[in-house]
Amino acid sequence: METLTPHIVILPSPGMGHLIPLAEFAKRLVLHHNISVTFTIPTDGSSSKAQEKVLHALPKTINSVFLPPVSFDDLAEDVKIETRICLTVTRSLDFLRNALKALTATSRLVALVVDLFGMDAFDVAFEFNISPYIFFPSTAMMLSLAFHLPKLHETTSCEYRDLPEPVKLPGCVPVHGRDLLEPVQDRRNEAYTWILHHAKRYKLAEGIMVNSFIDLEPGAFKALKEEEPGKPPVYPVGPLIQTGSTGGADESGCLPWLDDQPSGSVLFVSFGSGGTLSHDQLHELALGLEMSEQRFLWVVRSPHEKAASATYFSAQSIKDPFDFLPKGFLGRTKGQGLVVPSWAPQIQVLSHGSTGGFLTHCGWNSTLESVVHGVPLITWPLYAEQKMNAVMLTEGLKVALRPKVDENGLVRREEIAKVVKGLLEGEEGKKIRNKMRDLKDAASNVLREDGSSTKSLSEVAHKWKNHKSI
Ligand code: UDP
Repeated sequence: METLTPHIVILPSPGMGHLIPLAEFAKRLVLHHNISVTFTIPTDGSSSKAQEKVLHALPKTINSVFLPPVSFDDLAEDVKIETRICLTVTRSLDFLRNALKALTATSRLVALVVDLFGMDAFDVAFEFNISPYIFFPSTAMMLSLAFHLPKLHETTSCEYRDLPEPVKLPGCVPVHGRDLLEPVQDRRNEAYTWILHHAKRYKLAEGIMVNSFIDLEPGAFKALKEEEPGKPPVYPVGPLIQTGSTGGADESGCLPWLDDQPSGSVLFVSFGSGGTLSHDQLHELALGLEMSEQRFLWVVRSPHEKAASATYFSAQSIKDPFDFLPKGFLGRTKGQGLVVPSWAPQIQVLSHGSTGGFLTHCGWNSTLESVVHGVPLITWPLYAEQKMNAVMLTEGLKVALRPKVDENGLVRREEIAKVVKGLLEGEEGKKIRNKMRDLKDAASNVLREDGSSTKSLSEVAHKWKNHKSI
């Protein structure tokens, strides 16, 4: 048995932001370390085309198995996405068990890799005597919070947004309770219980690979790497961003448009695969972009009043988003900007020479993609851990500007225009751009053959190759 190629199983929880970096991670294991990989995909039946596209583009040696869909007939309509994500995993455990049973007959299974919502699958890993690992598709700062959360829960009775002092995570920029991840903002909500449940199970992992790198978060990694009982080894393996053709064709036509714009002049505006704005906010953003007199490329989605993550499971607008833009906006900004519905080939946009800034929802993949291409940021966090990322980018790394939100929770057009101008034209923008260039160089160095992230990944691969089945 031990002579067979080591084989790992990856269980991504729903969401493109989890699958994309895991796919890159898998590619590296197969191409550089001769480890076999099978993806087992839990789903509620709404599996998106985008997911299939990513999996199809993987090397042929990586297998994917879609597990039978779970049912959500019993869930309330307004259940939070984190609850849905966690339940998709827990309700798929029997299917995972069957998949592992079939795989053990032909392969030398050594590890099960889950992401930040998959810790319940560890029980199945233990049954099969394979090592449980986490691939953490977020920041070291967020991982640090996960380790700290059980204590914060025990020692605090108020909502975290009412804490008088910022939370000080070891080696990280202090973060106010209101900027902590969205699902911990209401401690009575089931989503909070799920986050806490998973946070308590992180210690069961034999190792945690983080999609970040030392130069990006030196303090946080230093603290996480200090050995303590109940804290698994932490491996910075990033930045792993989408490579190859998985982004798909440029159906939006934005690349030829970018070709015609001056170098570094365009602000790319996009809120990830699932971000939506309210109708009022969409309106203000449109008028703010217009008022800034700067060039922009905006991926627009239909507004949604209730949830900022409204299209998380589908990545598509339900109605025609252009119907919601201010009257005459498209005509007035014709020479200034391009508006595309729902989706753009983001990596190609960020690597394009005409792109000079990125107004982003601060999803971690988007952030890393911007770092890798050296594009400075305007932060517009919406949900998940995006506010924490915004704090780190603006106050910690100083590679971003964060517009102010008014007392009604809106970012006004004047503020938007000011920040956009500031980034693309102002002195502060210049400083930010230089800092981002340094990070870009660092990101490229850590992934060289002797770079710190390459070495971390080799360390994990080495452990898996030496895994002894009992
Ligand atoms: N993305 C894209 N085009 C779009 C929107 C998103 O290619 O119009 C990709 C983006 O490049 C990134 C991922 O989708 O790789 C979004 O991940 P992120 O973590 O930034 O945000 P999430 O969608 O998980 O909120």
